[in-house]
Amino acid sequence: MEHEKYMRLALEQAKEARKIGEIPIGCVIVYKDKVIGRGFNTRMRDNNALGHAEITAINEACGCMGDWRLEECTLYVTVEPCPMCAGAMLQARVPRVVYGVPNKKAGCVGSVYNLLNDSRFNHQAEIVSGVLAEECADIMKSFFKEFRKRDKMGYIFDFDGTIANSSYLWKKVDKDFFEKRNMAMPPEYADKIATMSFYEGAVFTKTAYNIVETVEEIMEEWHKGAVKEYEKNVTLKESVVEYIRFLKRKNHKVGLATASNPEFYLPVLKKYAITECFDAFADGTLGLPNKESPDIYLKCAEMMGVEPKNCIVYEDIVQGLESAKKAGMYTVGVYDGRSEEREKAVEAAADRYITDFSLELEMLIKNK
Ligand SMILES: [Zn+2]
Repeated sequence: MEHEKYMRLALEQAKEARKIGEIPIGCVIVYKDKVIGRGFNTRMRDNNALGHAEITAINEACGCMGDWRLEECTLYVTVEPCPMCAGAMLQARVPRVVYGVPNKKAGCVGSVYNLLNDSRFNHQAEIVSGVLAEECADIMKSFFKEFRKRDKMGYIFDFDGTIANSSYLWKKVDKDFFEKRNMAMPPEYADKIATMSFYEGAVFTKTAYNIVETVEEIMEEWHKGAVKEYEKNVTLKESVVEYIRFLKRKNHKVGLATASNPEFYLPVLKKYAITECFDAFADGTLGLPNKESPDIYLKCAEMMGVEPKNCIVYEDIVQGLESAKKAGMYTVGVYDGRSEEREKAVEAAADRYITDFSLELEMLIKNK
């Protein structure tokens, strides 16, 4: 009963660690029914390998007692102590150590070794284990589960119109293409080819408008005009670079899912020095069906090693959003300033709708 009472106080300390994103281990040291030392794990916050709960608690207790010996004290800790902390207990001559759950990988009070029960040393301690074991284990388990989940989120971005200000570009290339042939660009043209791969678009254009050049020649013409434009003039949307860098720093996976090809998007990513932030490029070179099918998003998730249900897709095209949903992913529609009607459709198709990545960045920072 007494043990449980103090172990609960150690658990309170563990919760303090959890609050600041540290592995939730807590410790209290009791002298004559009085808590004289407390500590929780602060290793990451302080960038200090000595920042274990027990070390902090021993420090405080020694200060309180005005003595390096803690000879009539009992130390309560939620997890079996590591070699460093068990060593410190040995040095402080702590006579009794009570812990919650064993640490099979690093515990030195019985699991890997028992530093407090080796007759070759000049001090041994009484050990009590398994006090509130379930609670002590639960707080660890839930912490690591959450941590793993955070680590394993996948952020999938479409390129044109979603992160890049490039929607004008194909319109320009297309317009030039038809103008060169003394034709007006058909009004429905842009929407028709929006979800097609480069090759599909060329086949469609040749057939639908009786173009004399071969599919290869059409692609070559588009290619030259577009590469130049991407290299010189295409910019990324506001806050995209900061957002993607932030996601990487937080160990998320980042992928690009686009019908486009590397010769177009890579110069832009390079210009902003964020190519290295991407874990996967599911692009037009993979020969997957266009975005009317979920395949490209599923492939991107697979390449990132993230479950589809843990993926968030940013898209500016309705068909893309619908396919990503079919893939079991969470979808965010992105404003691209085209027609109001189009934006309404994007808003309706997505789980959430944004006009600006700076808000995404802000939300993520706040939720940390
Ligand atoms: Zn330790």
